[in-house]
Amino acid sequence: MSTGNLRQVAVLGATGSIGTSALDVIARHPARLRASVLAAGRNVGALVELCRRHRPRHAVIADASAFTALRDGLHAAGLDTQPHAGGDALEALVAGDACDTVVAAIVGAAGLSSTLAAARAGKRLLLANKESLVLAGELLMAAAREGGATIVPIDSEHNAIFQCLPAAQAQAAGGMAAPAHRGLARITLTASGGPFRGRRRAELADVTPEQAIAHPKWSMGPKISVDSATLMNKGLEVIEAHHLFGLERGRIGVLVHPQSLVHSLVEFVDGSTLAQLGLPDMRTALAVGFGWPERLASGVGGLDLLAEGGRLEFEAPDLEAFPCLRLAFEALAAGGTVPAMLNAANEVVVSAFLQRRIGFLAIPDLLEATLSALTAAPADSLAVLQEADARARRHAEQLVARAVQSTSRSAGAPG
Ligand code: NAD
Ligand code: MG
Repeated sequence: MSTGNLRQVAVLGATGSIGTSALDVIARHPARLRASVLAAGRNVGALVELCRRHRPRHAVIADASAFTALRDGLHAAGLDTQPHAGGDALEALVAGDACDTVVAAIVGAAGLSSTLAAARAGKRLLLANKESLVLAGELLMAAAREGGATIVPIDSEHNAIFQCLPAAQAQAAGGMAAPAHRGLARITLTASGGPFRGRRRAELADVTPEQAIAHPKWSMGPKISVDSATLMNKGLEVIEAHHLFGLERGRIGVLVHPQSLVHSLVEFVDGSTLAQLGLPDMRTALAVGFGWPERLASGVGGLDLLAEGGRLEFEAPDLEAFPCLRLAFEALAAGGTVPAMLNAANEVVVSAFLQRRIGFLAIPDLLEATLSALTAAPADSLAVLQEADARARRHAEQLVARAVQSTSRSAGAPG
C-alpha cells in the first residue's frame, strides 16, 4: 500500500551485500522510503539488529526452525515488528499490502518464489536476484507483464542499460509486452574480469576461495564473487539481459573493462553508443530503482575520471581460461531447461569450491560434465524448470563427491 509519496519497501536478503546497500539508501530518504518488511536466510541476530535500526512492520527468517529465536529476539529488543518464518510467509507478505516495492536480493534460485510473487502482485521490483531470471526468465517476465509489475534491474550492467535504453524504460512505464527496439543495434555488457584477469588456465589450478572472493572492484557476497572470478557471473548476466530486454544472443556482447567505471553500453543503428558511468557502488543502481523516473541521492559521489586514473581500458574476454562464459552462451543458445540446469549445477559446484572440497578448475569441468549428462526439455512450466534444477543439483553433487573421493585417494597414494 503506498501512502502518498512514501514507498513501503520489502528488502529480501536484507542481511546481505545488496540488502545492506538498499537499507543505506532507504535510510537517506525517510520521507520517501520506508523499510516495511525485512527478510533474511538464517542469521537471526543480524536480522534483529537491522530491525532495531529500521523498525520494519514485519521480519521474516527463511529457516522455519529459527522462528522462536526471531520472536524472542524482537521481543527482547522491545520492538513491535511481527516475526514470521518460512517461504510461504515471505510470499504472502511480498504479495500483500505490507509493501509496494520489493528489493529481490536473495542469492540463488532460493529467490525465485518470492521474486515471482512480487511480479505477480504488480509490485515495483528492484531485481538483483539474477538467478531467478536465468532459471525461469520467460515465466518471470510474463508474470510481471500480467501482474503489471515494474521491473528495474539492479545488476549494475542491466541497470546501466535500463538507463540508456528508451525502450526498456517505456516497458517499465507502460508494461509493454516486449520492448520495441527500433533503432537499437546491440548492447555490450562490461565485466571487470575478476581477480584472475590475465591469467591462463594453468595458472588457475591452485587459487583459493580467499583469492577468488577478493574482487578488485566490487564488494559482494561470496557466491557472486566466485562467479565473477570464473566469469560465470557475466554468463548469467547475458542470459539475464536476454530476458529483461527481449534481445537475442547475437545482439548481446561482453567486453572486459578492468576499471569498472563504464557499467555497460547500448549501440544504436545511427552509430551512437550510450553508456552509463559511475563509481562501482550498488547504491547508485538501487537509487535508480527506488526513484525512477526521478533521481535520488544515493550516498555515492560523482565520478572524477582523472582521480580514477584517467584511463578506461577494454579487452576481449578469454573464453579458454574462463570457459564458464562459453558454457552460459551455449546454454542460452540451447534454451529450454538448459540455463536452469547450468544455474543449479553452478550453485552446487561454487559452494563445493567455497568449502574447499574441489579446486577452481573443477568448477567449469563439473558444469560441463553435468550438462552433457542430462537431457534438456522445453521450459514449459515452473514444475518442469524446478525438476530440471533439482536434477542438475543431484547430478552435480554426485560429481563433486566423486571428485573429492578421487583427490583424497590420490593424496593418500604412495609416491
Ligand atoms: P549475499 O550472500 O551477500 O546475501 C544474500 C542474502 O540472501 C542474505 O541476506 C541471506 O540471508 C539471504 N538468503 C540466502 N538464502 C536465503 C533463503 N533460502 N531464503 C531467504 N533468504 C536467503 O549476496 P549478495 O551479494 O547481496 O547478492 C544477492 C543477489 O544479488 C544475488 O543474486 C547476486 O547475484 C545479486 N547481485 C549482487 C551484486 C552485489 O554487488 N553484491 C551485484 C549484482 C547482483
Ligand atoms: Mg553485474
